Amino acid sequence: METNVGTGPQGTSDHGAATAEEPLIEVKGLKKYFPVRKGILQRKAGDVKAVDGLNFTLGHGETLSLVGESGCGKTTAGRSLLRLLEPTAGSALYRPSPGKTVDLFKLDKAELRSYRRDLQIIFQDPYASLNPRVTVGNAIGEALRVHGVAKGKELRDRVAGLLAKVGLRPDVSNRFPHEFSGGQRQRVGIARALALSPKLIVCDEAVSALDVSIQAQVINLLKDLQAEMGMSYIFIAHDLSVVRYISDRVAVMYLGRIVEIGTVDDVFDNPQHPYTQALLSAIPRANPAERRERIPLTGDVPSPMNPPSGCYFHTRCAAAEKGLCDAQYPEPREVNDRGHGAACHFVKPA
Ligand code: SF4
Repeated sequence: METNVGTGPQGTSDHGAATAEEPLIEVKGLKKYFPVRKGILQRKAGDVKAVDGLNFTLGHGETLSLVGESGCGKTTAGRSLLRLLEPTAGSALYRPSPGKTVDLFKLDKAELRSYRRDLQIIFQDPYASLNPRVTVGNAIGEALRVHGVAKGKELRDRVAGLLAKVGLRPDVSNRFPHEFSGGQRQRVGIARALALSPKLIVCDEAVSALDVSIQAQVINLLKDLQAEMGMSYIFIAHDLSVVRYISDRVAVMYLGRIVEIGTVDDVFDNPQHPYTQALLSAIPRANPAERRERIPLTGDVPSPMNPPSGCYFHTRCAAAEKGLCDAQYPEPREVNDRGHGAACHFVKPA
Protein backbone atom coordinates (compact mmCIF):
# COMPACT_ATOMS: atom_id res chain seq x y z
CA MET A 1 0.00 0.00 0.00
CA GLU A 2 1.44 3.34 -1.04
CA THR A 3 0.71 6.33 1.14
CA ASN A 4 1.85 9.73 0.06
CA VAL A 5 2.36 11.36 3.43
CA GLY A 6 3.85 14.67 4.32
CA THR A 7 2.64 16.48 1.24
CA GLY A 8 0.66 19.02 3.24
CA PRO A 9 2.14 21.70 5.49
CA GLN A 10 1.10 19.76 8.57
CA GLY A 11 2.36 16.42 7.36
CA THR A 12 -1.17 15.33 6.68
CA SER A 13 -2.87 14.16 3.54
CA ASP A 14 -6.20 12.75 2.53
CA HIS A 15 -6.43 9.55 0.57
CA GLY A 16 -10.12 8.89 0.15
CA ALA A 17 -11.94 6.29 2.18
CA ALA A 18 -9.76 4.04 4.29
CA THR A 19 -10.07 0.37 3.54
CA ALA A 20 -10.55 -2.28 6.18
CA GLU A 21 -6.99 -3.49 5.54
CA GLU A 22 -5.34 -0.17 6.27
CA PRO A 23 -3.43 -0.40 9.53
CA LEU A 24 -3.87 2.09 12.34
CA ILE A 25 -0.15 2.82 12.31
CA GLU A 26 2.54 2.12 9.76
CA VAL A 27 6.11 2.67 10.96
CA LYS A 28 8.84 2.99 8.35
CA GLY A 29 12.55 3.30 8.99
CA LEU A 30 12.22 4.39 12.62
CA LYS A 31 15.62 5.33 14.04
CA LYS A 32 16.53 6.71 17.41
CA TYR A 33 20.19 7.51 17.97
CA PHE A 34 21.62 9.00 21.14
CA PRO A 35 24.79 11.03 20.57
CA VAL A 36 27.79 10.10 22.70
CA ARG A 37 30.02 13.04 23.66
CA LYS A 38 33.53 12.86 25.00
CA GLY A 39 36.29 15.08 26.26
CA ILE A 40 36.31 18.49 27.82
CA LEU A 41 34.76 20.02 24.70
CA GLN A 42 32.07 17.37 24.65
CA ARG A 43 32.72 16.57 21.01
CA LYS A 44 30.46 13.99 19.46
CA ALA A 45 32.24 10.65 19.48
CA GLY A 46 29.51 8.58 17.91
CA ASP A 47 25.93 7.44 18.32
CA VAL A 48 24.26 4.79 20.36
CA LYS A 49 21.92 3.31 17.77
CA ALA A 50 19.18 2.31 20.18
CA VAL A 51 16.64 1.85 17.37
CA ASP A 52 18.06 1.39 13.91
CA GLY A 53 15.45 1.25 11.19
CA LEU A 54 12.22 -0.40 12.33
CA ASN A 55 9.41 -1.20 9.92
CA PHE A 56 6.12 -2.55 11.18
CA THR A 57 2.39 -2.02 11.05
CA LEU A 58 -0.23 -2.15 13.77
CA GLY A 59 -3.83 -2.96 12.92
CA HIS A 60 -6.99 -1.62 14.55
CA GLY A 61 -7.68 -3.48 17.78
CA GLU A 62 -4.49 -5.46 17.38
CA THR A 63 -1.77 -6.23 19.92
CA LEU A 64 1.79 -6.24 18.64
CA SER A 65 4.45 -7.20 21.15
CA LEU A 66 8.04 -6.00 20.97
CA VAL A 67 10.33 -8.49 22.67
CA GLY A 68 14.05 -9.00 23.18
CA GLU A 69 16.74 -8.79 25.82
CA SER A 70 17.35 -5.64 27.85
CA GLY A 71 18.89 -2.96 25.67
CA CYS A 72 17.42 -4.28 22.41
CA GLY A 73 15.61 -0.98 21.86
CA LYS A 74 12.01 -2.05 22.47
CA THR A 75 11.23 0.63 25.07
CA THR A 76 12.99 3.32 23.02
CA ALA A 77 10.96 2.27 19.99
CA GLY A 78 7.66 2.55 21.88
CA ARG A 79 8.53 5.95 23.33
CA SER A 80 9.83 7.26 20.01
CA LEU A 81 6.61 6.23 18.32
CA LEU A 82 4.67 8.38 20.80
CA ARG A 83 7.30 11.12 20.48
CA LEU A 84 8.11 10.97 24.19
CA LEU A 85 11.57 10.68 22.67
CA GLU A 86 12.22 12.58 19.44
CA PRO A 87 12.89 10.07 16.64
CA THR A 88 16.09 10.56 14.65
CA ALA A 89 14.56 9.41 11.35
CA GLY A 90 11.63 7.58 9.86
CA SER A 91 7.90 8.04 9.64
CA ALA A 92 4.87 6.85 11.58
CA LEU A 93 1.75 7.05 9.45
CA TYR A 94 -1.23 7.23 11.74
CA ARG A 95 -4.82 6.99 10.54
CA PRO A 96 -7.00 8.75 13.10
CA SER A 97 -10.14 8.43 10.97
CA PRO A 98 -11.15 6.98 7.62
CA GLY A 99 -9.55 8.92 4.80
CA LYS A 100 -6.99 10.75 6.92
CA THR A 101 -3.32 9.90 7.31
CA VAL A 102 -0.92 11.82 9.52
CA ASP A 103 2.80 11.39 9.89
CA LEU A 104 3.24 11.62 13.66
CA PHE A 105 6.93 12.43 13.24
CA LYS A 106 6.19 15.52 11.15
CA LEU A 107 3.70 17.15 13.51
CA ASP A 108 4.76 20.29 15.34
CA LYS A 109 4.12 20.54 19.08
CA ALA A 110 0.66 22.10 18.82
CA GLU A 111 -0.47 19.56 16.23
CA LEU A 112 0.96 16.70 18.26
CA ARG A 113 -0.97 17.88 21.32
CA SER A 114 -4.23 17.40 19.47
CA TYR A 115 -3.34 13.75 18.76
CA ARG A 116 -2.02 13.05 22.27
CA ARG A 117 -5.44 11.93 23.44
CA ASP A 118 -5.34 9.08 20.92
CA LEU A 119 -1.88 7.89 21.93
CA GLN A 120 -1.31 6.82 25.51
CA ILE A 121 1.25 4.88 27.52
CA ILE A 122 1.18 2.67 30.60
CA PHE A 123 4.50 2.58 32.42
CA GLN A 124 6.18 -0.29 34.21
CA ASP A 125 6.25 1.53 37.52
CA PRO A 126 2.94 3.30 38.07
CA TYR A 127 4.18 4.66 41.39
CA ALA A 128 6.94 6.59 39.66
CA SER A 129 4.52 7.97 37.09
CA LEU A 130 1.92 9.07 39.67
CA ASN A 131 2.51 12.25 41.65
CA PRO A 132 2.47 11.15 45.32
CA ARG A 133 0.74 14.43 46.32
CA VAL A 134 -2.09 14.11 43.80
CA THR A 135 -5.13 11.95 44.52
CA VAL A 136 -5.75 9.19 42.02
CA GLY A 137 -9.04 10.85 41.08
CA ASN A 138 -7.23 14.03 40.10
CA ALA A 139 -4.50 12.04 38.33
CA ILE A 140 -7.08 10.21 36.23
CA GLY A 141 -9.16 13.33 35.63
CA GLU A 142 -6.23 15.57 34.68
CA ALA A 143 -6.26 14.65 30.98
CA LEU A 144 -10.04 15.16 30.81
CA ARG A 145 -9.60 18.63 32.31
CA VAL A 146 -6.60 19.60 30.19
CA HIS A 147 -8.34 18.59 26.97
CA GLY A 148 -11.55 20.33 28.05
CA VAL A 149 -13.53 17.11 27.86
CA ALA A 150 -15.30 17.39 31.22
CA LYS A 151 -15.43 19.40 34.42
CA GLY A 152 -17.34 19.52 37.70
CA LYS A 153 -19.78 16.72 38.32
CA GLU A 154 -19.36 15.28 34.86
CA LEU A 155 -15.61 14.98 35.47
CA ARG A 156 -16.17 13.25 38.81
CA ASP A 157 -18.67 10.86 37.22
CA ARG A 158 -16.25 10.07 34.42
CA VAL A 159 -13.43 9.36 36.88
CA ALA A 160 -15.76 7.12 38.91
CA GLY A 161 -16.67 5.28 35.70
CA LEU A 162 -13.01 4.80 34.77
CA LEU A 163 -12.18 3.48 38.24
CA ALA A 164 -15.06 1.01 37.95
CA LYS A 165 -13.88 -0.01 34.48
CA VAL A 166 -10.50 -1.07 35.86
CA GLY A 167 -12.00 -2.88 38.83
CA LEU A 168 -11.52 -0.24 41.55
CA ARG A 169 -14.25 1.20 43.77
CA PRO A 170 -15.24 4.74 42.74
CA ASP A 171 -14.89 5.95 46.34
CA VAL A 172 -11.08 5.51 46.22
CA SER A 173 -10.69 8.58 44.02
CA ASN A 174 -9.75 10.75 47.02
CA ARG A 175 -6.89 8.48 48.05
CA PHE A 176 -3.22 8.98 47.30
CA PRO A 177 -1.00 6.56 45.33
CA HIS A 178 0.83 5.25 48.43
CA GLU A 179 -2.47 3.90 49.77
CA PHE A 180 -2.67 1.34 46.94
CA SER A 181 -0.94 -1.96 46.25
CA GLY A 182 1.26 -2.36 43.15
CA GLY A 183 -1.52 -4.06 41.20
CA GLN A 184 -4.06 -1.39 42.19
CA ARG A 185 -1.65 1.37 41.20
CA GLN A 186 -1.25 -0.24 37.80
CA ARG A 187 -5.05 -0.25 37.48
CA VAL A 188 -4.95 3.48 38.23
CA GLY A 189 -2.30 3.85 35.50
CA ILE A 190 -4.58 1.99 33.09
CA ALA A 191 -7.59 4.15 34.04
CA ARG A 192 -5.51 7.27 33.39
CA ALA A 193 -4.46 5.93 29.98
CA LEU A 194 -8.10 5.12 29.13
CA ALA A 195 -9.51 8.50 30.17
CA LEU A 196 -9.48 9.99 26.66
CA SER A 197 -10.58 6.80 24.86
CA PRO A 198 -7.25 6.33 23.07
CA LYS A 199 -6.76 4.44 19.83
CA LEU A 200 -3.30 3.21 20.79
CA ILE A 201 -1.74 2.37 24.13
CA VAL A 202 1.93 1.52 24.47
CA CYS A 203 2.18 -0.87 27.43
CA ASP A 204 5.80 -0.41 28.42
CA GLU A 205 6.66 -3.45 30.57
CA ALA A 206 3.25 -2.77 32.12
CA VAL A 207 3.08 -6.01 34.10
CA SER A 208 6.78 -6.79 34.57
CA ALA A 209 6.98 -5.42 38.12
CA LEU A 210 3.87 -7.23 39.36
CA ASP A 211 3.54 -10.56 41.16
CA VAL A 212 2.54 -13.40 38.86
CA SER A 213 -1.04 -13.66 40.16
CA ILE A 214 -1.54 -9.88 39.84
CA GLN A 215 0.07 -9.98 36.37
CA ALA A 216 -2.63 -12.38 35.21
CA GLN A 217 -5.38 -10.09 36.52
CA VAL A 218 -3.93 -7.00 34.83
CA ILE A 219 -3.37 -8.83 31.54
CA ASN A 220 -6.94 -10.12 31.56
CA LEU A 221 -8.11 -6.59 32.33
CA LEU A 222 -6.14 -5.22 29.35
CA LYS A 223 -7.63 -7.89 27.09
CA ASP A 224 -11.18 -7.22 28.31
CA LEU A 225 -10.76 -3.47 27.84
CA GLN A 226 -9.44 -4.00 24.33
CA ALA A 227 -12.41 -6.20 23.46
CA GLU A 228 -14.77 -3.55 24.83
CA MET A 229 -13.10 -0.38 23.52
CA GLY A 230 -11.24 -1.63 20.44
CA MET A 231 -7.91 0.13 21.00
CA SER A 232 -4.59 -1.26 19.73
CA TYR A 233 -1.69 -2.15 21.99
CA ILE A 234 2.04 -2.13 21.52
CA PHE A 235 3.03 -4.46 24.29
CA ILE A 236 6.65 -4.21 25.36
CA ALA A 237 7.78 -7.13 27.47
CA HIS A 238 10.51 -9.63 28.08
CA ASP A 239 8.31 -12.39 29.57
CA LEU A 240 7.50 -14.51 26.54
CA SER A 241 4.77 -16.51 28.29
CA VAL A 242 2.87 -13.27 28.87
CA VAL A 243 3.57 -12.18 25.29
CA ARG A 244 2.14 -15.40 23.89
CA TYR A 245 -1.04 -14.94 25.88
CA ILE A 246 -1.76 -11.32 25.02
CA SER A 247 -0.39 -10.79 21.50
CA ASP A 248 -1.77 -11.10 18.01
CA ARG A 249 1.66 -10.54 16.47
CA VAL A 250 5.19 -10.42 17.80
CA ALA A 251 8.31 -8.56 16.68
CA VAL A 252 11.61 -9.86 18.05
CA MET A 253 14.26 -7.15 18.38
CA TYR A 254 18.02 -7.44 18.58
CA LEU A 255 20.37 -4.45 18.79
CA GLY A 256 17.77 -1.96 17.63
CA ARG A 257 16.44 -3.98 14.71
CA ILE A 258 13.57 -6.39 14.17
CA VAL A 259 15.00 -9.80 13.38
CA GLU A 260 11.72 -11.70 13.21
CA ILE A 261 8.06 -10.71 13.01
CA GLY A 262 4.86 -12.62 12.52
CA THR A 263 1.66 -13.83 14.10
CA VAL A 264 2.14 -15.08 17.62
CA ASP A 265 1.49 -18.68 16.53
CA ASP A 266 3.91 -18.50 13.59
CA VAL A 267 6.73 -17.02 15.66
CA PHE A 268 6.23 -19.25 18.70
CA ASP A 269 5.52 -22.49 16.84
CA ASN A 270 7.87 -22.02 13.89
CA PRO A 271 10.65 -19.59 14.90
CA GLN A 272 13.07 -19.03 12.03
CA HIS A 273 15.73 -16.74 13.43
CA PRO A 274 18.35 -18.39 15.68
CA TYR A 275 17.91 -15.55 18.20
CA THR A 276 14.16 -16.16 18.44
CA GLN A 277 14.82 -19.90 18.75
CA ALA A 278 17.19 -19.27 21.66
CA LEU A 279 14.76 -16.95 23.44
CA LEU A 280 11.87 -19.39 23.05
CA SER A 281 13.94 -22.35 24.21
CA ALA A 282 14.33 -20.63 27.58
CA ILE A 283 10.58 -20.46 28.33
CA PRO A 284 9.75 -22.82 31.20
CA ARG A 285 7.09 -25.34 30.13
CA ALA A 286 5.00 -27.41 32.50
CA ASN A 287 4.17 -30.02 29.84
CA PRO A 288 7.26 -32.24 29.21
CA ALA A 289 6.02 -32.95 25.67
CA GLU A 290 6.32 -29.23 24.85
CA ARG A 291 9.81 -28.76 26.25
CA ARG A 292 12.49 -27.70 23.78
CA GLU A 293 16.17 -28.25 23.99
CA ARG A 294 17.68 -25.19 25.62
CA ILE A 295 19.76 -23.12 23.18
CA PRO A 296 22.20 -21.11 25.29
CA LEU A 297 22.73 -17.46 24.43
CA THR A 298 26.44 -17.07 25.01
CA GLY A 299 28.35 -13.82 25.27
CA ASP A 300 27.11 -10.33 25.89
CA VAL A 301 24.91 -8.21 23.67
CA PRO A 302 27.35 -6.12 21.58
CA SER A 303 27.43 -2.36 22.04
CA PRO A 304 24.78 -0.52 20.01
CA MET A 305 27.44 2.15 19.47
CA ASN A 306 29.60 -0.30 17.55
CA PRO A 307 27.37 -3.06 16.24
CA PRO A 308 29.17 -6.01 14.66
CA SER A 309 29.67 -6.14 10.91
CA GLY A 310 27.26 -8.23 8.85
CA CYS A 311 24.48 -9.85 10.84
CA TYR A 312 24.41 -8.17 14.24
CA PHE A 313 23.78 -11.56 15.86
CA HIS A 314 26.75 -13.37 14.31
CA THR A 315 28.97 -12.94 17.41
CA ARG A 316 26.53 -15.08 19.42
CA CYS A 317 24.97 -17.30 16.76
CA ALA A 318 25.78 -21.01 16.70
CA ALA A 319 24.65 -21.22 13.06
CA ALA A 320 26.82 -18.31 11.82
CA GLU A 321 28.77 -18.95 8.61
CA LYS A 322 32.14 -17.25 8.35
CA GLY A 323 32.55 -15.02 5.35
CA LEU A 324 28.80 -14.58 4.96
CA CYS A 325 27.21 -13.77 8.32
CA ASP A 326 30.07 -11.50 9.44
CA ALA A 327 30.10 -9.67 6.12
CA GLN A 328 26.52 -9.12 4.96
CA TYR A 329 23.51 -7.94 6.93
CA PRO A 330 20.69 -10.32 6.00
CA GLU A 331 17.70 -8.61 4.47
CA PRO A 332 14.35 -9.68 5.95
CA ARG A 333 12.90 -12.68 4.15
CA GLU A 334 9.30 -13.72 3.97
CA VAL A 335 8.55 -17.04 5.64
CA ASN A 336 4.88 -17.20 4.70
CA ASP A 337 2.13 -14.99 3.31
CA ARG A 338 0.71 -14.25 6.78
CA GLY A 339 3.43 -11.67 7.34
CA HIS A 340 5.94 -13.96 9.00
CA GLY A 341 9.46 -12.86 8.15
CA ALA A 342 12.98 -13.13 9.56
CA ALA A 343 16.32 -11.47 8.88
CA CYS A 344 18.67 -14.42 8.53
CA HIS A 345 20.63 -15.63 5.51
CA PHE A 346 19.37 -19.16 6.05
CA VAL A 347 15.66 -18.51 6.14
CA LYS A 348 14.11 -20.22 3.19
CA PRO A 349 11.86 -17.71 1.37
CA ALA A 350 8.25 -18.74 0.97
FE1 SF4 B 1 23.02 -16.50 12.56
FE2 SF4 B 1 24.00 -15.94 10.13
FE3 SF4 B 1 21.37 -16.12 10.49
FE4 SF4 B 1 22.71 -14.09 11.52
S1 SF4 B 1 22.45 -14.54 9.34
S2 SF4 B 1 21.17 -15.26 12.52
S3 SF4 B 1 24.63 -15.04 12.11
S4 SF4 B 1 22.86 -17.76 10.71
